[in-house]
Amino acid sequence: MEPVAALLEIASLLERERASRYRAKAFRQAAATFQALPPEVQADPSRLRAARGIGESTFAVIRQAQAGTVPEYLVELRGEVEPEIASALRPRLRGDLHAHTDWSDGTTPLSVMAEAARALGHEYQAVTDHSPRLRVARGLSAERLREQIPLVRAESGDGFTMLAGIEVDILDDGSLDQEDALLGDLDIVVASVHSKLRMDPRAMTARMVAAVSHPRVNVLGHCTGRLVQGERGTRPRSEFDAAAVFAACAENGVAVEINSRPERQDPPDDLIEIALAEGCLFSIDSDAHAPGQLSLLDHGARRAEEAGVPASRIITTWGLDRLLAWAE
Ligand SMILES: [Zn+2]
Ligand SMILES: [Zn+2]
Repeated sequence: MEPVAALLEIASLLERERASRYRAKAFRQAAATFQALPPEVQADPSRLRAARGIGESTFAVIRQAQAGTVPEYLVELRGEVEPEIASALRPRLRGDLHAHTDWSDGTTPLSVMAEAARALGHEYQAVTDHSPRLRVARGLSAERLREQIPLVRAESGDGFTMLAGIEVDILDDGSLDQEDALLGDLDIVVASVHSKLRMDPRAMTARMVAAVSHPRVNVLGHCTGRLVQGERGTRPRSEFDAAAVFAACAENGVAVEINSRPERQDPPDDLIEIALAEGCLFSIDSDAHAPGQLSLLDHGARRAEEAGVPASRIITTWGLDRLLAWAE
């Protein structure tokens, strides 16, 4: 086995598992370090072990791969990390409209996310880093977003398209945390609530209706903000008049996101049912913060299928031309 392939597969499995972003990063770092070493250093165990960026466990993985075996740690992880869930819907998904890079709180550069999305067979992948107000996530200023847009699009080619986007914060009054003109330059705008999740239901309803009525919004991200499992603990769903919010989504051509992250499972089943009844479109997104999390779409696909969402109403089953014509 190639040492680099082994290190990257381990990183990707750790990311999918969402155990520790630092551990996954160490394996990505070791892969980059190893790749850059001259062949004579790669082949010399003591010089290899001394290389900055190669630690005890990454060194062991490299040595076992060089010896022609599948590294033990990789064997272990392949057995532990939950395999992708099969569903009739998953193969029909052609892309993903919500993911982060190290421009905000993702762990890897644009190019690494692009490569992983291509490897998954996506036709398109949107990059939607956070907006300025989300400082904990290093949200992008208008200036940095302007700088990012051409770099995102430059990752396209050979039948794969990287879409320039944003996950823009819905501010307390329902306005959006980015300049309108700049939102107009993007391919995809996901709008999400990240603050004051416990707001009074009437105010929250007005806030969300105002946001989805903005002409540049395409997708309403993780609408309740709930957390049902995982490292960050649990968080109850925010409360709002779901029928009113989803009716506004349907009227304004905004897709309701089915967020695939296992700790979110957002919207909850009862809200998917209301969105279906209101005539909404849906977008099954990964909300990946690392390349190995792009594959989490299988969770969203299973939930959509179980909830009886028809594929025709899921915009991420559409081809790129149709998607972009709709998003405009
Ligand atoms: Zn978010
Ligand atoms: Zn996100």
